[in-house]
Amino acid sequence: MYQSAVRFWKKRSLRFWLTSGLVITISPFIVFSILTYAFVHERIVNPLLALSSEQLDIISPINNLQTTLWDISNTVTGFAINGDPSHREDYAVQAQRIDDAFSKLSKASNPAHVRLNDDIAIAQQQWLSVAAHSEVVLRQSHIHGNQAFGSQVIKFENEINRLGYELEQIYEDLQQQNEQLHQQVIETLEHANRIYVLVLLSAVALGLLGLVIINRSLLSSMDKLTEGASKFATGDTNHHIDIGIPIEMASVANTFNNMKNKIIEQHKALELVANKDGLTGLFNRRKFDEQIEQELKLAQQGGYPLCIIICDIDHFKQFNDTYGHLGGDEALKVVAQTLVSGIRNHDKACRYGGEEFVIILPHCAGNTAYMMAEKLRQNVASQVVIIDDSKVSTLTISLGVAAFPEHGQTSDILVKHADQALYKAKELGRNRVLMASADC
Ligand code: GH3
Ligand code: MG
Ligand code: MG
Repeated sequence: MYQSAVRFWKKRSLRFWLTSGLVITISPFIVFSILTYAFVHERIVNPLLALSSEQLDIISPINNLQTTLWDISNTVTGFAINGDPSHREDYAVQAQRIDDAFSKLSKASNPAHVRLNDDIAIAQQQWLSVAAHSEVVLRQSHIHGNQAFGSQVIKFENEINRLGYELEQIYEDLQQQNEQLHQQVIETLEHANRIYVLVLLSAVALGLLGLVIINRSLLSSMDKLTEGASKFATGDTNHHIDIGIPIEMASVANTFNNMKNKIIEQHKALELVANKDGLTGLFNRRKFDEQIEQELKLAQQGGYPLCIIICDIDHFKQFNDTYGHLGGDEALKVVAQTLVSGIRNHDKACRYGGEEFVIILPHCAGNTAYMMAEKLRQNVASQVVIIDDSKVSTLTISLGVAAFPEHGQTSDILVKHADQALYKAKELGRNRVLMASADC
C-alpha cells in the first residue's frame, strides 16, 4: 500500500508538482471568495433586500391609515359639533380607505413575522371597534344637549386613540425588525472577520506548503544536479546524484549518473592503456617513473627500506636473429610472466624499455632483494619458451640491485646504481645478480 503510494507520487511530472504548488497556494483565497460571496448574500444582502421591500409595502398603507384616521377623527368630531349630514358620506369614503389599507397590510406582511402579524390583527380588530363607535355617533340625529351623545363621542375618541397606539406598535415592530437585521449584519461581519483571519493563517501555511512542494520538486532537484555536476568537475567521481521527484529531473539525474559512470569506465580504460605495456602487460616506463616517486616518498615518510631490480635479457639480439622478431616477442612475454610470478603482490614489475625490466620492491631490504633477484634469475634460466611449437630454453637474464637508502635517496640515483650493477653483471659474464655498491 505504502509502496504503491510512493510509486504513484514518484511518477508525477514537474508540471503536476508546479501546478499543485500554485493551486495549494491560492486555494484559500478562492475558498474565501466563494464562502464570503455565499455568506454575505445569505446573511446580509438577501435579508436586507427582502426586509426593505416588505417594509416599504407595509409603511405605505400604515401612513395611509394614520392620515385617514386623522380624517375620520375630524369627520366624526365635526359631526358631533355641527351635525352636518355630509360628514356621514365623508366617513363612508374614509372607512373604505381604512379597509383597503388594512387589506394591503395583511397582504404585504410576511407570515414568518409573527409579532408584526399579531399587531396588525390587533389593529384591525381595534379598527372594527372604532368603526362601530363611529357609526353609533354618526347615526344620532339630536346631538345638542344630549348627554349620552357626549359620552359616545368620548368613547369614540378613546377607541381611535387606542387604534393610533396600535399603529405605533406596528411601527415599533418594524423598528425592531430593523434592529434584529442590523444585529445579524454585525454578527455576520464579525464571523467574516474571523473566517478572514483563519483564511490568512491557512493561506500562509498552505503557501509555505506550496513553496515546499515547488522547492522540493524543482529547486532542490536543481541544486542536487548542480552540486553533482560541480563535484564531478572537481574530481569527486564517487558522488551519485539521487533525485526521486519530479520524474523529468530524476531522468536527467539518471542520465547524468550513467554518463558519469561511462566517463569513469573510459577513463580507467585509457589509464590502463596509458600505463601498461602492450606486449607484456607489465607497467610501462611512464608508470614506473610515477610509481617510483610515490613509493620513495612513502618509504622516506615511513622510514622503511625499498629496493629496485633492473634486469636485461642476455644476448637478446642474437635470440632475435635466431628465432625472428616474433620469437623475440614471445620470449619477452615469457620473461615478463616469470618475473611477475616471482615477486610479491605489492611489488611492481615494469618494462623499462626494449628487453630491460625494472622491479620496485617496497618494504624490502637489500639482502632480501638480492635473494629475490637470484631466484628470478634462476626461474628465467629454467623457463621454457615455445616458438613455432618447438621448445627453446636458452634464455638468461642479468640483474642489478640497488637499495634505498644505502645506494641513493632519489629515483635517478637508485636507477643509476642498479644500472651500473647490471652493467658489471654483464661484464662478469652475464646470467648473474650483482648488488650495487655505494661507491660506484
Ligand atoms: P646483452 O647481453 O649485452 O644485453 O646483449 P643484447 O643482445 O641483449 O643487447 P643489445 O642491446 O645489443 O640488443 C638488444 C636487442 O633487443 C636489440 C633489439 O632488437 C631487441 N629488442 C628490443 N626491443 C624488442 C622487442 O620489443 N621485441 C623484440 N623481438 N626484440 C626487441
Ligand atoms: Mg640484452
Ligand atoms: Mg639491453
